[in-house]
Formats: sequence, C-alpha cells, structure tokens
Amino acid sequence: MKNDTRPTARTHSDAATEAVQRLMGANAVRAALAFAETDHARTVEDQIRLTEIPAPTFHEHDRGQAFLAELESLGLSDVKVDATGNVYGVRKGAGRGPTVFVSAHLDTVFPEGTDTEVRQRNGVLYAPGIADDGRGLAVVLAVLRALNHANVQTVGDLWFGATVGEEGLGDLRGVKAFFDENQVDGFISVEPDAPNRITYLATGSHRYRITFRGPGGHSFGDFGTPSAIHAMGRAIAAIADLEVPENPKTTFTVGVVRGGTSINTIAAEAEMMVDIRSDSEPALLALESNLLACVHEAVSAENARWNQQGIQVSVELVGNRPAGQQSVDSPAVQNAMAAIRSLGFMPSLDEPSSTDANVPIHLGVPAVTLGGGGRCGGIHTLQEFYHPEDGHHGVQVVLLTALAMVGVSEVSEPTLSVSPSRA
Ligand SMILES: [Zn+2]
Repeated sequence: MKNDTRPTARTHSDAATEAVQRLMGANAVRAALAFAETDHARTVEDQIRLTEIPAPTFHEHDRGQAFLAELESLGLSDVKVDATGNVYGVRKGAGRGPTVFVSAHLDTVFPEGTDTEVRQRNGVLYAPGIADDGRGLAVVLAVLRALNHANVQTVGDLWFGATVGEEGLGDLRGVKAFFDENQVDGFISVEPDAPNRITYLATGSHRYRITFRGPGGHSFGDFGTPSAIHAMGRAIAAIADLEVPENPKTTFTVGVVRGGTSINTIAAEAEMMVDIRSDSEPALLALESNLLACVHEAVSAENARWNQQGIQVSVELVGNRPAGQQSVDSPAVQNAMAAIRSLGFMPSLDEPSSTDANVPIHLGVPAVTLGGGGRCGGIHTLQEFYHPEDGHHGVQVVLLTALAMVGVSEVSEPTLSVSPSRA
C-alpha cells in the first residue's frame, strides 16, 4: 500500500500543462489564437513577399531589410540588424521574467540568380524557399501580430527576429553570433513542418579540408620520394576502419578527394573533404581525435617508408555545428507538447537534426524547432512547394508555446527559469 505523503516535486510537465490550461482559459489568449486563423491569408501574403526577395546564404541583406521593416511596423523596441546580419527586436514583458527568442532563418540554399517568383496552381504555392524558411519568417510575424491584436501582456520579454547563415556553409553563423552577443532563457526556431512536430535534439557536425603536401617529382627519376597521394591513401584506409557508436548515432565520410598532376608524377599535393556527425558532442570530439590521429599517423608512415620528412599535412575546419542533447523533460519540450495537445494534435518528437536550435541546445538553453503549419515538399529543390491549408495551426502552436514559457500577466506564471547569469 502506498502511503507516502511527501509532496512530489512539480515537474516541468505539470507546470507546462497547468500554464497552457490557464492560457487557454484567458480571453486575451483566445483572442490571439482566433486572430491567427483570421490572419491566415495575410500570413501567406507575407510568406510570398519575403520568399520572392532572393536570400542565398551570405546574401541575406535585402530580405533582412524587408523583415526589419515588418518588425518595426509591428512596434518592437530595440529593433536592429546586428554585425552578422541577424534582424531582431524585443516585445517587452511586464518585467523580470524569462526571455525567449522566436526566430526563423532568412537564408535559402539557392544560389544567386535563382528565380524566386512564387507561382500558384490549385492553391499550392511553388518557389524555391517558399517553405524553408519563407513559412518560418511569416509565422514569426504572424505570432507577433496576433499578440499585438489581442493586447497580450507577457511577463518575460519576447524577442522576435530572423537569423542569417542557417544553411550549408553558413554554418549557423547567425544564431552563433546571436548567442555570443545576447542572453535569452529559451529559444523557438520555426521551420516548415506539420504543427505537431518538435525537434529538440541537435546533430553536430564537423567538416574538414585536409591537405597533404610534399616535394613531388618524376615517377621514375625521383622514385623514393614520399607521395602526397600515397599518404592520403593511408589516411583514408585507416579512417575507413574507424569504429563509431551506433547510439548516439555517429558517422564519418571522406566525401571528396582530389590531387596529383599526372600519371607519371609523384604527387606534390592531395586534398580530401571529410564530414563527421554525431548526436552527442563528446562522441563527435572523440571521433575527431581518432580521425586526426589517423591522418598524422598516415603522414608519419609515408615519410618513414622512404625515410624522409617530405610530407606535411594541414587540417582546416570548414564546418562546425555543435551537437547537443536535451531531455524530453526540458521546459521547452514540455511547453511545446502541452501546447500541441491543447490545440488538438498529438505531439511528435523528431529525430535529431541540424537547425538553428543546435546552438542554444549545445549551450544548455531550452530550445525547440517547431513546424510552421501547412504542408510542404521538395525542400531544397527547385520544385519546393507549400500548401497553406490550415497553416494557422503552426502559428497557434508557436504562440502558445512561447506564452507558456514567458508567462502572461495575471494568467500564468513563466515556466522557464531565468538563467543564473542573467538573474
Ligand atoms: Zn530551414
């Protein structure tokens, strides 16, 4: 028989459920959620307009300016473009609560010159970037507009904005700079996806350009000279035999090799591009150290083979996305799950992936990536499309999750803690 009468600790789950229940019972919050639905067409217009402004990674300026104008017209304070190109501002809370940054990314994977005009057929929108992350950008604005319309007074501050450099070689440089310069207690990134999807684990990656250099020479006349290609071959053979954990999933590949000048030349130069990934930062770093050991041992072995110090190697880190783990009990995850449930959906926790949320998750800041609603496909291809049906559900999930985190005056307490360094 159970007669333990000690009070049980309130979990994040209890707090999140209670906060969302209180929010759903508040007139202002219900008005904001209802507004998100009536504002749907306007949100899709924003999505089209922003998508049509080209924004390849490293060339986000024009789209950033357009987004900045929207944030200013929606009355945010301290709106700015930072040195990296991120655009953001603050919607002030009543004071002394936790702060949350609600964000999407400005950049697309498509190079300059790509036609970004949005075409509509049978209610479906087609354009490169219309979903990723045109949808996210529109949702950020829609959440802000709904809060303003219903005059929702939060306890903590909500920051709204957009980052640069989320895709590819952008290497999350926008969100990294944001967290270098600012402290917030929670983070929500909006990406194109169904409104019940939650990404809360961060796959990290490191990418290297590894270059082997030696004296080179004639294949016959200079035989006995160490070869850059032979050294690299030794390294690849050793890398190919590396053991990695299945869980946390950890992977490696030598994706590109090049080098040499001709068939009858001892190669003076060889280069390979290597990509390693893991869902755990310690596993990523362990693999990195083993892999680099393979490279240096290969150079030593090639030099020892010919008893010369001819080959040297340089390793350049060309990509660095931090990995991070976060418990499902994290307040960010619990708030998102409670919000999704209360809107009538079944929350779905996604596999780890690489999004702007990697950086806060790595830093220990509660963070999730949420789906912007509607349906989409062909992401990162010229056939990318977005179907706006019921897209407002995404706006509602983000809105409710953010409110549960920072609290609403006279309705619900914040469920996020203020980070000790900011308190
Ligand atoms: Zn994206």
